[in-house]
Amino acid sequence: MTDAERRVALEAIGAEVRVCTRCRLHEGRTHAVPGEGSPDTEVLFVGEGPGRDEDAQGRPFVGESGKLLTRLIESLGWGRDEVFITNVVKCRPPGNRDPQPDEIAACAPYLERQLAVLDPALIVTLGRFSLGAFRPGERIGQAHGTSRPAVGHPEAAAFAMYHPAYAVRDRSNEPILFDDMAGVPAALVEARRRRLPLAPEPEPEPVGNLQVPDGTATDADRTDQIQLF
Ligand code: URA
Ligand code: SF4
Repeated sequence: MTDAERRVALEAIGAEVRVCTRCRLHEGRTHAVPGEGSPDTEVLFVGEGPGRDEDAQGRPFVGESGKLLTRLIESLGWGRDEVFITNVVKCRPPGNRDPQPDEIAACAPYLERQLAVLDPALIVTLGRFSLGAFRPGERIGQAHGTSRPAVGHPEAAAFAMYHPAYAVRDRSNEPILFDDMAGVPAALVEARRRRLPLAPEPEPEPVGNLQVPDGTATDADRTDQIQLF
């Protein structure tokens, strides 16, 4: 798929989300929040669900958690607009309560379709509900800062992080998030490597050469790969 085709496909999903009534969360929303970002990114961030500010604006991660997420992304030398950011549920749970299993299930097809279009090498899960979607049964306290193949998406790795709200509630937790985020580029390199076609064998890189392998068959059409180092 070309960049332009991805953009159109993502916009079509967004248009469906904005009028969706598949679960009770549509009743209390001001705006649904489909997600936003670069259609040709290799990295997808998945949060929990919109909060008050996101519901008001129809954009993901624009409140206090969003400011921190933006700083975390920028700590890698990346911009928010170079990745894609979305949530497990696209409408705000009333009073910011946890999304319920039937709401997550009702909304899952939208996230699945976004994944199919974006085909990211790396999914960064923010918080336990997003972790549960891609690494079911794992606990955030152990999983954070680590990468594993994403369950149901063998072409992608899922890198686990605490939700930014964890450090908005208690700023002394910020260093944990920044430390974990610092592991994202290496996780992306590893995720790209796993996507390399099995044959022919890639030429071995000279020892000590930090160059990142790119131009794989899968990602060859991505004109705008994220700068890693
Ligand atoms: N928290 C989330 O999980 N998602 C948002 O978009 C904003 C806050
Ligand atoms: Fe539809 Fe998802 Fe919103 Fe529920 S949360 S109404 S499934 S878009």
